[in-house]
Amino acid sequence: MQNTRIILIGAGIGGLTAALALQRRGFKVAVYEQAPQLGEVGAGLTLSPNATHALEAVGLGGKLAQTASRPARQAVLHYRTGQVLVDQERGDLPKKQYGADYYQIHRADLHNMLADAVATNDPSAIHLDHAFVGFQQNGDTVEVTFKNGAKTVGDVVIGCDGIKSEVRAALWGRLPPRFTGNVAWRGLVPVKNLPPGFKIEPASAAAIGVKHSLARYLIRDGTMLNYVAFAEKSGWEVESWSVRSPVSELLEEFHDWHDSFKTFMAATPPDLLFKWALHDRDPLPQWTKGRVTLLGDAAHPMLPFLGMGAASGIEDSVVLARAFQAAQTVNEALQRYENARRERATFIQMQSRAAQERLQGGKVDNYDQKKHKNEEFLGLFGYNPATVAV
Ligand SMILES: Cc1cc2nc3c(=O)[nH]c(=O)nc-3n(C[C@H](O)[C@H](O)[C@H](O)COP(=O)(O)OP(=O)(O)OC[C@H]3O[C@@H](n4cnc5c(N)ncnc54)[C@H](O)[C@@H]3O)c2cc1C
Repeated sequence: MQNTRIILIGAGIGGLTAALALQRRGFKVAVYEQAPQLGEVGAGLTLSPNATHALEAVGLGGKLAQTASRPARQAVLHYRTGQVLVDQERGDLPKKQYGADYYQIHRADLHNMLADAVATNDPSAIHLDHAFVGFQQNGDTVEVTFKNGAKTVGDVVIGCDGIKSEVRAALWGRLPPRFTGNVAWRGLVPVKNLPPGFKIEPASAAAIGVKHSLARYLIRDGTMLNYVAFAEKSGWEVESWSVRSPVSELLEEFHDWHDSFKTFMAATPPDLLFKWALHDRDPLPQWTKGRVTLLGDAAHPMLPFLGMGAASGIEDSVVLARAFQAAQTVNEALQRYENARRERATFIQMQSRAAQERLQGGKVDNYDQKKHKNEEFLGLFGYNPATVAV
């Protein structure tokens, strides 16, 4: 098995974590990315303890501790009054409860960490400007073709190519992602741009409202405020991370929100506010066919209302590498991987849809803390991909 030629399509957070997890278990990987340069969008990412366990297992624990933010507390806020509805301790508590920290990080910082680690292990592992277009399974091998005319042959292919996955289309047919009826704005605000005396307290919070919600937290040593604001809205369905939105449009959409939110929205530099329409897909009944499988958003794209999309792909990655180490054949490895992962990923996908009602259903004035079933109360933090049975 150690000589298995493993091809990964896509160098996002999922593909790179998988590459690193496999390298650390002695496998040689080749990652093919369509973009001519590696990169991630300017936005934040929450890493709950289940994801932190996985990143520690691939050797990034020390770097995360240096680079990521660890909020002391996390709140749920009332959209119109700004009042705290729920106040949860974080800080040292997640490590005590779940064995790993709860972090928030700039996506590019995590992506760079992963890419550097993969390239340090093998400078020839990442191939840019290679857009996957198709594969052919020939007995014990798979031949992959790319848009640039190149071809390669491996023993197994893992599609890590995101929500619009071409590998998924080649395996299971081409269906467009489902527009979920939500539009999101993501903004990054340098904290020095905020009005004097304006405080971001606590450092991490979600705000719930009527057909609208928001998540905001500090990253990069408290120098940047990251936020994502969601609105249930039809008529605009562009699924792209690079469409700019004027700040005035966001302020109009959130006109009845408390000033504590509108103040930081108004301080967003025009080049750091983007909007995109949120899509997901229904769960697949099967991920693997022969020697080809899926990972991350390619397998289970989900709404961001539990903040678990990237975390799920990170979990997949460590389980995949452990399955390859435990198995005698490629088919056994892929079966072990899918058996260990599909049920949990599907559960998170479906719960991410259900969470929309909790955050945007408008039950804000008589909010019942006991019914506060967020990702932690759903039990998602208690999963450790480095030790779960494969
Ligand atoms: C508003 C919002 C907030 C979020 N917040 C969080 C959060 O706090 N925590 C969390 O865990 N998750 C969060 N997520 C989810 C997270 O962003 C995604 O789940 C995650 O980025 C998916 O990673 P991936 O590597 O599977 O796919 P992607 O990041 O989409 O990467 C896919 C890669 O494949 C490449 N590619 C695509 N097609 C091809 C091809 N044909 N050939 C070669 N390469 C190809 C792409 O260029 C890209 O590099 C959020 C999502 C949204 C929308």
